[in-house]
Amino acid sequence: MLRGLNMDRQLLISGLIDYAGRNHSSTEVVATDSTGTLHRTNWTNIRWRALQLSTALKRHGIQQGDRVATIAWNDHRHLELYYGITGIGSVLHTVNPRLREQQISWIINHAEDQMVFIDPDFLPLAEAVASETPSVHTWVILTNELPETSLENAIAYEDMIDRSDAVEEWPLLDEWSAATLCYTSGTTGNPKGVMQSHRSIVLQTWATCTGDGHDVNSSQSILLAVPMFHVNGWAIPFAAAMAGSKLVLPGPDLSPEALVRHINTENVTFSAGVPTIWLSVVQYLKETDTDIPSLNRLAVGGSAAPRSLMDTLEDDYGVFVSHVWGMTEMTQGSAGRFTHRIQGLSREEQRRRQAMAGRELYGVELRLVDGDGEEVERDGVTPGELLARGPWVAASYFELDDESTHTSSPDGPWLRTGDVATMDDEGYISIVDRAKDVIKSGGEWISSIELENAAVGAPGVLEAAAVGLPHQRWGERPLLLVLLEAGKPLNTTEILESIRPHVASWWLPDEVVAVDEIPHTGTGKIDKKVLRDQFAGFEWPK
Ligand code: AMP
Repeated sequence: MLRGLNMDRQLLISGLIDYAGRNHSSTEVVATDSTGTLHRTNWTNIRWRALQLSTALKRHGIQQGDRVATIAWNDHRHLELYYGITGIGSVLHTVNPRLREQQISWIINHAEDQMVFIDPDFLPLAEAVASETPSVHTWVILTNELPETSLENAIAYEDMIDRSDAVEEWPLLDEWSAATLCYTSGTTGNPKGVMQSHRSIVLQTWATCTGDGHDVNSSQSILLAVPMFHVNGWAIPFAAAMAGSKLVLPGPDLSPEALVRHINTENVTFSAGVPTIWLSVVQYLKETDTDIPSLNRLAVGGSAAPRSLMDTLEDDYGVFVSHVWGMTEMTQGSAGRFTHRIQGLSREEQRRRQAMAGRELYGVELRLVDGDGEEVERDGVTPGELLARGPWVAASYFELDDESTHTSSPDGPWLRTGDVATMDDEGYISIVDRAKDVIKSGGEWISSIELENAAVGAPGVLEAAAVGLPHQRWGERPLLLVLLEAGKPLNTTEILESIRPHVASWWLPDEVVAVDEIPHTGTGKIDKKVLRDQFAGFEWPK
């Protein structure tokens, strides 16, 4: 082999914060902490405090490869942890506080976390799990002063870093060293740990910054409405440093009032988050007759975004929605920018593409296979199981021996995503369902996602969930659960008539039930398992 004559420089996360620190001392990071206090800082300060944090971590015995956990909201301290922990080669383990206590202690034990950094509102949680998590030698509370607590080995974050000089520079790590650990939501079975390397994070961050990714660039003011504990905040905390964007971190308050206030006071141009957040923002904007003139682009994903949401955002508020698909195992796998050809098509055709879950993004190869593992044609209609591979796709899970998570295809292993999808010849994917949520009626598949998306377009329907329940004749039939606007009575005929033009007639739900609440998982997806349990005794009308 004739080698290329390039410099041997490793792709490291520390390179991102060094770049931002050097060039963006006047680019703001605006954070609201868990007490509601607003902090205005900048990338140079974030880098400096991350360097101080690294020294403090070393003083507490943290070494390369050690896992250090965070249970925290989106604020400047969490951002410092992203860089201070990974900068010295220890592994940033972001824990989802919305999981059950037992799951949290299971995850901390599985990861063998040595230190855990928590926002003060999670003190009761830490106190409850401390005796069951012996690997943790220090709990660091993300405050100025240590609050009253029964934790024996607790310290305050500001005390911890105040007493530290900054490490002079970050060590030169191998780019393959582990950088982050994030567990999948695991609605069934135990959560699985996805461990990303420095190389993988830098590469996926680059993809995120591209025009076809999230188009993150230095002219943006970005509101991070994705929790930093969900898939590393979709890589945006890294991308904002790579690009030198202004970053707005909202803390625990993700209410529509708070998000709209941040958008308007910080001139936010781009934001990202799950559909439920934006559904509530749109409702709030309508109720209060408020506008969001600075916002021009949104990345929506994590679960299917209803077309009516995208239409309203664009038609009424001038916000273009890029519909993205991804998962903890790879972060972003698709994105929704229109190609040159699609830009020339009618608005209706463009919107049809927009309602799909984005296009294959360079770096994550996608493939569909049937039940025998044979490749399915990319014809836009034939469904198959979605497989993925690429330099930032998980090759296996942390300390888990399970061959069923990947294929053993002749051209090497592919990750089995567990999603059933169709794909067209331009790489547009449509997620039919999670394999376990698809409704099997008379041997054919009904997409619960398509039913839900159509139902959300019906008058007065705020949110909808479709689940397959056992049916004597058909095996399973769809039951539709709807959350209605306050005071709106249930009108089943009106809802079914709104759905009818969008789906095959035999897909129409057999029954519609109004509910007071639709349950969500810790990462904002509709919790179908809870709903199936809740309606296990449901009887179809005769
Ligand atoms: P998580 O690892 O928690 O982010 O979950 C990943 C899963 O979320 C995927 O496998 C999909 O089932 C679902 N998902 C993500 N984005 C979308 C989308 N745009 N449309 C439908 N489902 C999605």
